Amino acid sequence: MKKELYLKDLEKCVRCGSCKAYCPTYDEERTEAMGARGRLVLLRELALQRLKPTPVLNEKIFSCILCEACSGLCPAGVDIAEKIYNGRNILKDSDKKRRYLRLLLKLGIKNPDISFRLLQLLQHILFPYLAKKGFIPSMFRMPGHTFKKESRIYKPLRPRGRVAVFTGCSVNFLYPHLGVSLINVLLKSGYEVIVPAGEVCCGIPFRSLGLDDEAIRLAKRNMRVFGRLKVEAVLGLCPTCILSIKNQYPKQIGNGINNAVDVSSFLLEKFDIHQLSLNFNQPSVVTYHDPCHLSYGLGVRDEPRELLKRSGISIIEKKEQGCCGFGGIFSLTCSDISNKLLQRQAESFLKTDAKAVVTACPGCMVNLSKAITRMPVFHIVELIEEAYCGGNEV
Ligand code: SF4
Ligand code: SF4
Repeated sequence: MKKELYLKDLEKCVRCGSCKAYCPTYDEERTEAMGARGRLVLLRELALQRLKPTPVLNEKIFSCILCEACSGLCPAGVDIAEKIYNGRNILKDSDKKRRYLRLLLKLGIKNPDISFRLLQLLQHILFPYLAKKGFIPSMFRMPGHTFKKESRIYKPLRPRGRVAVFTGCSVNFLYPHLGVSLINVLLKSGYEVIVPAGEVCCGIPFRSLGLDDEAIRLAKRNMRVFGRLKVEAVLGLCPTCILSIKNQYPKQIGNGINNAVDVSSFLLEKFDIHQLSLNFNQPSVVTYHDPCHLSYGLGVRDEPRELLKRSGISIIEKKEQGCCGFGGIFSLTCSDISNKLLQRQAESFLKTDAKAVVTACPGCMVNLSKAITRMPVFHIVELIEEAYCGGNEV
């Protein structure tokens, strides 16, 4: 990050306040420093050395969910989320509150398989404590295996195209069955699917803790793996990963995975809907939750709804739209605000007559499952698999 450019960007702000319109942390706290505009003012003062890092200042910058609800709202063209990532990078050494998280993250990402085994072994001791603290759903258990073990190519009988899958850590380590559902759906619709070896974390958890150098290393590695694949699209089930590899990598390393696309947009365009069996075992009246990085970051709101409707599923819209409060590390380090946001969404879901909640992000699934226990929480790919493949596994 070039300091002059960073300051120049911050100085573009004319303080109109448009960016506060949908800011969930501002909505909860109603103080200037908990909104986008206030955070940018703090960062500018910090860059001009008129303010020094303090625990209070750090908290304002690290309490941003990075949801991107302020993206695209700025008439002056400030890339607000990017400035907050930059600010966190500047503040990382003074931010003691999250130092152990940084350490844990570095260890975890460096040794993903060992971390997975450790969590499997310790889950009976660790998970009840984490559930009591409100960090994970009370029923959450580690899966028996990860989704990716080695490089795999899945071939349909009559290929009509070729795609790759960017698995992402949450699908690989927490919800591997979602990866299986995706492969099933893609094979059924005639796509050869490459799941390459060598994929690493997209890097967003590092960036959100201000560890830009580590995030850049991961970005370069993923570019080496995915950049050379000859595929129509790189598909992902986690919108945060897609946002990262497509939109953030160019800002970090100069180029990104341009053909990365979220699964709903791809399937809506490519699906032969007439082949749907529509023999659901799952509830067919659902309510849909927009993941922030899909709706605000990637601008994808209608596609998942349309895909569900075309699959014979009715959607009841909840009254309260907004962030579920997950935001990765945000739910761990700002649990008070995170829980308030979650409760607000959960109440809104439970007021509908829907029989299930559907979303399109594994992170939202984790968070929503903490508060919604009366009905199941699905990833959209699970329902599409049910409709399209009748639940048969590869
Ligand atoms: S990214 Fe989200 S939480 Fe952060 S300032 Fe923007 S709207 Fe607010
Ligand atoms: S919308 Fe843009 S110009 Fe207006 S306060 Fe927010 S960052 Fe500043």
